[in-house]
This record gives sequence, structure tokens and C-alpha cells, in this order.
Amino acid sequence: MKRPGCCTLCETPVREIVSKHTKGKLKGEVIQFGPWLDNAWRITYLMSDGSTADITFCEEHLDGDSEEIRKVYTERFLWEEDPEIRALKGSPERTAVQQHAVEKELDRVLNLKIEKEVGRRMWKFVDGA
Ligand SMILES: [Zn+2]
Repeated sequence: MKRPGCCTLCETPVREIVSKHTKGKLKGEVIQFGPWLDNAWRITYLMSDGSTADITFCEEHLDGDSEEIRKVYTERFLWEEDPEIRALKGSPERTAVQQHAVEKELDRVLNLKIEKEVGRRMWKFVDGA
């Protein structure tokens, strides 16, 4: 699963971490990020539904396998939607309407494919990042 502050395809840190959880199911989850590191790259992909997605890599993994990238992201998304994880993070309860919207979004994300790369940039040069 994608580790916060790390490359999508390996455990190389790409961002400073100011603080993180140290125990329990949230162990390793970042509470506060610091600046991007010099090895952090953002690749923007065009997805099969016409949307774009920014995905982070270390410089060793700039040409990763799109199916593997998709798998890592799907795992992360499902994990974040786990009711137990949401409760541990103190996420607010959703109304039925909100939950329905989330399930629709989940369905959309699970069916997305990466079409092609449309840009890459070092995160430290991305405005506002
Ligand atoms: Zn990597």
C-alpha cells in the first residue's frame, strides 16, 4: 500500500515528515508533512474517464508500470474508506447522501485506468505544494 511521504512504488521517503502516528493501526500515518525532498517527482496522468491524476515517485521509479501504480492507489483508497480507519482518524460521520456519493466515487476510481503521462515536474517546483 502507498506509504504517506514515500514514493508510490517503493518506501523511499520523498517528503519530510514533521510528525506521525507511532502505534496502533495508524502507525506510520503522517500527522503533519514538511517540505518535499529533492528526489520527489510528480507525474500527471490522463485517466480513462478524461480526468487527470497527480502521482508521486522517487527518481528511481519515474517509469513505473501503470497497472502496479493503479493497484497501489486502489489499495490506499480502500484502506482510507475502511470504517475502522475512518473512526481512528476521527473522520466525521457521513450522512446517507454523503456515503452514497463516496461509494459512487469509489466505483469510479476502481474502474479507472491510466491512459498516458501528460507531464512531470519535481514537487519542489510545484507552486503551492
Ligand atoms: Zn521509488
